[in-house]
Amino acid sequence: MRQFTFACLSGLLLASPLGAQQAADTVAPEEATEAGGGFAALSPAVAAALEAKAAGRPVEATHWMIAVANPHAAEAGAAVLRAGGTAADAMVAAQTVLGLVEPQSSGLGGGAFLVWYDAASGDLTTLDGRETAPLDARPRLFQDTSGQPLGFYDAVVGGRSVGTPGTPALLAEAHRRWGRTDWRDLFRPAIDLAEGGFAVSARLAALVEADAERLARFPATAEYFLPGGQPLAAGQRLTNPAYADTLRQLADNGAAGFYAGPVAADIVRTVQEGAGDNPGVLSGLDLALYQVRERAPICVPYRTYEVCGMGPPSSGALTVGQILGMLNSFAMPGPDSPEAWRLIGDASRLAFADRGRYMADEDFVPMPTKGLVDPAYLAERAKLLEGGDALPEVAPGNPVFDHALLQADDEAIEFPSTSHISIVDSYGNVLSMTTTIENGFGSRLMVRGFLLNNELTDFSFRTHKDGLPIANRVEPGKRPRSSMAPTIVMAEGKPVLAIGSPGGSRIIGYVAQAIVAWADWGMDVQQAVALPHAVNRFGTYDLEAGTGIEALAPELEEMGYEVAPKVLNSGLHAIEIGHGLKGGADPRREGIALGD
Ligand code: GLU
Repeated sequence: MRQFTFACLSGLLLASPLGAQQAADTVAPEEATEAGGGFAALSPAVAAALEAKAAGRPVEATHWMIAVANPHAAEAGAAVLRAGGTAADAMVAAQTVLGLVEPQSSGLGGGAFLVWYDAASGDLTTLDGRETAPLDARPRLFQDTSGQPLGFYDAVVGGRSVGTPGTPALLAEAHRRWGRTDWRDLFRPAIDLAEGGFAVSARLAALVEADAERLARFPATAEYFLPGGQPLAAGQRLTNPAYADTLRQLADNGAAGFYAGPVAADIVRTVQEGAGDNPGVLSGLDLALYQVRERAPICVPYRTYEVCGMGPPSSGALTVGQILGMLNSFAMPGPDSPEAWRLIGDASRLAFADRGRYMADEDFVPMPTKGLVDPAYLAERAKLLEGGDALPEVAPGNPVFDHALLQADDEAIEFPSTSHISIVDSYGNVLSMTTTIENGFGSRLMVRGFLLNNELTDFSFRTHKDGLPIANRVEPGKRPRSSMAPTIVMAEGKPVLAIGSPGGSRIIGYVAQAIVAWADWGMDVQQAVALPHAVNRFGTYDLEAGTGIEALAPELEEMGYEVAPKVLNSGLHAIEIGHGLKGGADPRREGIALGD
C-alpha cells in the first residue's frame, strides 16, 4: 500500500499550480492571493491575520472573533464587535461590505441561511432567508417548448433564474432580534468604501476575466465589471455610488427600502424588461410578500457532539448529519488511511442518494425530515459500509415517513460560488451564516449597484421522471433546495465550533470533512479548513488537484471508485470556541479571521 502522511496531505496544498478553471467562481488558489487587493496594508491586524493563515496557524483571541471571505468585510465586522456590537450587528456590516468587494458571491440580490446561538437563553435558532420562486413561475420554467431541460447557462443568464431576494430581509430580521448597534451605523463601512473606492482583489479580477463574455451581455453589468470594454484589473480602484445609494435606502427605511419603492421597481423592471431574450416573471407582489422564516434547527449526534444546522429548504444539515451519523458507527481511522476515505466517501454517496430523493422545500412537499436523521435509521444504513470495497451501487433508503409517496430523484445542476461568515461576539453569541447569489455573478443582471441571483436554477429543471414527481421541482412561492450548511457544533449544550463553506453541493463534503478533521483527527480550525479535499457525491471521487490527497488515487481505484483530480474551491470559515477563540480561514480564498 502506498504510504503518505498527513504532513504530505496538508503540506502540498498550496505548493503546486492547479489546472484550468472549471466553473464561474472557481479560481486556483495562487490566483486568489491577497496581492491584488493589497490587503496587508489595510491594518496591522489584517497583516497579522494573513501571516497566520500563510503559516497555517489559527488566529487566537479572547473576547470576539469574525472569520469571513474578505479582509475589508472582516475589518467592518471587527469594528462593530470591538465597539460592543453583537454578532448579528457585525454580520450586517460584513455582509454589506461583501456585497461590494466580493459581489460575485453574495449580496443584497441573493439569499442566505443563518444559525444563531443565543448566549442569554441558550437557544439555537435558524433563519431561512432563501429566495422564493415568483408566484408566476410555472413548473416548466426551465424547459424548452418540447419539454426538454434548458442548457444550464441558457437558464442562468437573464431574468428567468431570478428568485425573490431574501438577504435584505434577513439582515433586518437578525438585527431586529439580536442587534444592539444602531441599524443605520451598520451601513457606514460599506457606504464609505463604495463611495471612497477600494482596490479590486486578485480573485475578483480573475473571475471577471473568466466570465467577461456573459457579463458583457447586459449594459449595466458590462459598464461596472468591464469599464471601457476591459475587465477590471487586480489593484484597480473601484467605486460603486449606485450601491451606496441602495444601502442608504435600506439604512433609512429598513427592509422596506428594498422590497418596496424605487429599488423594488428597478429590480422588477430589470428582470422583466432588461434581460434581453431571457426575461423573468418576478413581480412587485413577490417582493412585497417576501418573508424570512424561522425553522427548527436540525441537530445530529456525532461522537460527543451535536452537529446543528439549517434544515429544509436546505439539504445542508440533513446531508452533513447523515454522513456523520453513519460514520458514528465506526472508529475513524487516521487521515492517511484510505479506509477513512472509503468510509467518508460511501457514507456521502448514501446520504446524497437520500438527498436526491427526499429533500426539498418542506412547505411544499412532504419530507421524512426526522426519519432521515433518526440514529436508528442511520445505524442501519451504516451497516452497508461494513465491507472493504466501494459500494457497487447506492440507492436511497427508506427512512420513517408518515406519508405514502413515491418520488423520483432530483436532477438540479450545482456549480460553486457563495460565501460563509462565522462570528462570535463578546456576549458569547455565535453566528454561522452562508450567503449566496448562486452561480458566480448570479444571473449577471445588475440593478442599482448589486447583482441579482440565479437561485431558481437550484430547482430541478425536470418536474417528473419515469412518471414520478421530483420533490425539488419548480412551484410558485417555493424555495429551491440548497446545499448550504451553516453549522454550529455543540457540546453539552454549549457551542464549540462555528463553520460553513461555499461550494455548491460539495459544501456538504467540505463541511463534513472539516468536522471529522477537527473532531476525530484533532486538527485545529486552521488545519481543518486547509486540509486537502476528497469529495464524493454521486459520481467520481473528486480529489483536490495539486495536493497530497491525490496520492490516494491508486488505493481508491483498487477499492472500485472512479477517481478524478479537481479544483475544489471551498471557502471554509470557522471559529473554535473553547478556552478562548481560534479562527481559521480557507487558504483557497482571500478571507481572514480577526479577533481580540
Ligand atoms: N446555490 C447553492 C446552494 O444554495 C450554493 C452555491 C454555491 O455554494 O456555490 O446550495
